[in-house]
Amino acid sequence: MDYEAVIGLEVHVQLKTETKLFCNCSTKFGAEPNTQTCPVCLGLPGSLPVLNKRALEFAIKVAVALNCKINKYSKFDRKNYFYPDLPKNYQISQYDRPLSSNGYLEIEVEEGTKKRIGITRIHMEEDAGKLVHSIDDLQKAKESYVDYNRTGTPLIEIVSEPDIRTAQQASLYLKTLRQILMYLDVSDCNMEEGSLRCDANVSVRKIGEEKFGTKTELKNMNSFKFVEKALEYEIDRQIKVIKRGEKVIQETRLFDPQSSKTIPMRTKEEAHDYRYFPDPDLVPLVISENMIEAIISSLPELPKRKKERFKTEFGLNDYDIKILTSDRNIADYFENTAKLYRGDPKKLANWIISELLFFINRDNADINKCNLTPERLVQILRLIDEDKISGKIGKEVVKEVYETGKEPEEIVKERGLVQITDVAEIERLIEEAIKENQETAFDFKKGKDKALGFLVGVVMKKSKGKANPRLVNEILVKKLKA
Ligand code: ADP
Ligand code: ZN
Ligand code: MG
Repeated sequence: MDYEAVIGLEVHVQLKTETKLFCNCSTKFGAEPNTQTCPVCLGLPGSLPVLNKRALEFAIKVAVALNCKINKYSKFDRKNYFYPDLPKNYQISQYDRPLSSNGYLEIEVEEGTKKRIGITRIHMEEDAGKLVHSIDDLQKAKESYVDYNRTGTPLIEIVSEPDIRTAQQASLYLKTLRQILMYLDVSDCNMEEGSLRCDANVSVRKIGEEKFGTKTELKNMNSFKFVEKALEYEIDRQIKVIKRGEKVIQETRLFDPQSSKTIPMRTKEEAHDYRYFPDPDLVPLVISENMIEAIISSLPELPKRKKERFKTEFGLNDYDIKILTSDRNIADYFENTAKLYRGDPKKLANWIISELLFFINRDNADINKCNLTPERLVQILRLIDEDKISGKIGKEVVKEVYETGKEPEEIVKERGLVQITDVAEIERLIEEAIKENQETAFDFKKGKDKALGFLVGVVMKKSKGKANPRLVNEILVKKLKA
């Protein structure tokens, strides 16, 4: 590989405010077309936009979390172009004085190796409407409809420096960014539904060369996987173009998920001249130190800090920490449970990761609303710690509590799951097991240690998982050696 890629991402994030950026219309998804509109978002003459304070707060939150400088003075500009989904014929955006700039995001490119990706700017803008196309029986376009419900929904655009070098780094950047946005609770961040959208700028150059090559801009990638695939294809394509002695053309290209290829959409010559100018209807945005301070102090603990704290406070390994902090709700659940349990945090982490999260992921459920509350999980763990039930039975109880919402004690009593710790009872089961497996018992006496595990298994099965495994082991060894 004598060439390397240079990648910069432009990410649009829909902010989850109740109302639109410059009017009081609802932003709720899925309503009847054109029922969430008003003179402001339809751009009717005489209407005036008023900035949504909540949206501004969300944008500042993101900017602070991404280590950006908040510009005390910024302004809104009109980006002029014609398209049917844009009723005003201009989009209100921010051009030369964005809300914030000069930040960075750290990604972990390899276990323990971090890389900083610069953030050029984060600015606010409004979303456009949506075109809905109908097709006839021959799959030809028939009619187009326009739905203005989305028009004016608040967006932030996060522009990265060209610091990304591979397709994998690009998708890692997006995943890390998404995690922070989810922690901040400012967006649904759903790439399939379009609340997180990414355009990728990419060029290639000879390794060692400082000057960037000509870039193309890739669009239409609505999943992390597609971003990766589009970039891989495009990097390969550009290298081949150069090796053929030709030049990469600056253009916008569309990703086609069917073929996993990128196809030309428009060249620079066809690109718009947006004729930006300050929006005369909106006053400049002046942000006070107080407002910034208030927002900083309202920020939740972000993934990076939480990971560090989980390591020092609970002594968990990196794998467990990664899963437990992948989602703020899971991290909260773990901490709430740890506060009640006071036992070994590693054990607790195991139960959450390999038992509870299996069901949560399967059902796409909210962990903090599930039947297995921290209190109930702790009750189950205590029953195990006190030798009242075995770990195996514990797993069954977890499942039943999760599915029915019954109390663990109740399930244990109802189903007679209490562990057998009665020595006489266990001895009886062991004698049966040895009688039925005399050859294996003999193997053990001859020094085959594996035979013991097999016999323990037989006893456990006979007790329907209820015998205390520690006692079974002890008594079995004693009996076999006798
Ligand atoms: P444009 O004028 O086409 O909008 P910008 O300079 O504003 O380009 O950059 C847009 C995005 O493209 C940014 O994310 C930036 O990091 C990235 N970028 C700029 N130049 C290159 C390049 N030569 N190769 C790859 N990405 C680039
Ligand atoms: Zn409106
Ligand atoms: Mg630009």
